[in-house]
Amino acid sequence: MTPATSLPAPATIDELIALVRGTPRLIAVGAGTKPRLSQVADAYARVAMTRLSGITEYEPSEFTITALAGTPLREIVAALAERGQYLPFDPLLVKAGATLGGTVAAGLSGPGRLRYGALRDFIIGVRLVDGEARLLRLGGKVVKNAAGFDLPKFLVGSAGRFGVMAELSFKVFPRPAATRTLRLEAPDAAAKAEILMAASAARWELDALDAAVGEGAVFARLAGPETALEPLARDILQRWRGAVMTPGDASYLWQSVTELSWAHTGGALVKVALTPAAVPAFVAFVQTRGARGWVSAAGNLGLLSLPPAAAVETLEWPALTLRGAGPLWAGPAPRFEIMRAVKTALDAAGRFPGLDD
Ligand SMILES: Cc1cc2nc3c(=O)[nH]c(=O)nc-3n(C[C@H](O)[C@H](O)[C@H](O)COP(=O)(O)OP(=O)(O)OC[C@H]3O[C@@H](n4cnc5c(N)ncnc54)[C@H](O)[C@@H]3O)c2cc1C
Repeated sequence: MTPATSLPAPATIDELIALVRGTPRLIAVGAGTKPRLSQVADAYARVAMTRLSGITEYEPSEFTITALAGTPLREIVAALAERGQYLPFDPLLVKAGATLGGTVAAGLSGPGRLRYGALRDFIIGVRLVDGEARLLRLGGKVVKNAAGFDLPKFLVGSAGRFGVMAELSFKVFPRPAATRTLRLEAPDAAAKAEILMAASAARWELDALDAAVGEGAVFARLAGPETALEPLARDILQRWRGAVMTPGDASYLWQSVTELSWAHTGGALVKVALTPAAVPAFVAFVQTRGARGWVSAAGNLGLLSLPPAAAVETLEWPALTLRGAGPLWAGPAPRFEIMRAVKTALDAAGRFPGLDD
């Protein structure tokens, strides 16, 4: 096998189109923060997306933003913050340098997905270079766009297998005035599952509800007007033992969640689709392997971190390996029927890697 080629990084969409047209096998690479997703056979040349960068349209009054796919999330987050807006799904690895395109391709959302939905619920448009080097416009730049199939959502978690995303549009929200994080005592996995299920079904409309596998606690975040948070916090603390975290501790906690800094450096990282009822089994799995784990979105998403050199083993839940060696799909074989039909429509000749590569 010939070694993987690195193509010259395109700086414009036209350069990207020309590059795709002239390369029979290729895969886009963002900032490399989820390297397993782009670890494919060496026959696929790698195209770095980092020069195709910049916000192309930001309409604060319309609550929409459009940026080139290689734009670092930190630029988008900073531009939105200046106008008191944000991406409520709490994108991951912002400080680590993750790009907008890579985040969409990985289908990664942070703890904020609990209240308003995941990345998939905020993407409204994509310009995609497909396997025939056509520049397709899918969706649009406005929130009220009901025409056609909602193809942008298909690109969430597509790992570059359908084409190279060139530009993406998102709807955004006003940032809440204040937040509070409660640390609720949960000595064992059963207590964690009970709090996750009950708190997410209660009337509090939590902003985030996560739990660390190795710590006897569940973390509940509230967001909204300052005056509303105090009574809500009191209400929750009447139901479970716990305390309001200091702003400093809360900020450290959520940054460690969104930057995945709780995970091993240099080890494998696997995203696992859970249900709240599966949390005790996931916790037991993590603990018996001497691994680290995090449970997010009220028990609907798990993250498994393995120390360097530990192999990713087959899991009983649907799972995707983001970093480290091991199968891309670490769980039961995905049912790809619809995905294969979309792949055939966009990339019949297989210019981009296959869904199981
Ligand atoms: C608040 C909330 C409540 C939910 N309630 C329920 C519920 O009651 N019942 C329920 O069944 N689900 C529920 N879900 C969804 C379930 O937990 C999802 O499977 C999980 O959150 C991942 O969803 P996603 O694909 O949208 O997320 P993403 O973060 O986009 O996806 C997780 C990743 O897993 C990968 N993946 C998806 N499917 C497979 C697969 N088959 N094999 C391997 N990898 C795969 C994807 O590529 C994706 O990258 C809920 C989710 C949330 C946020």
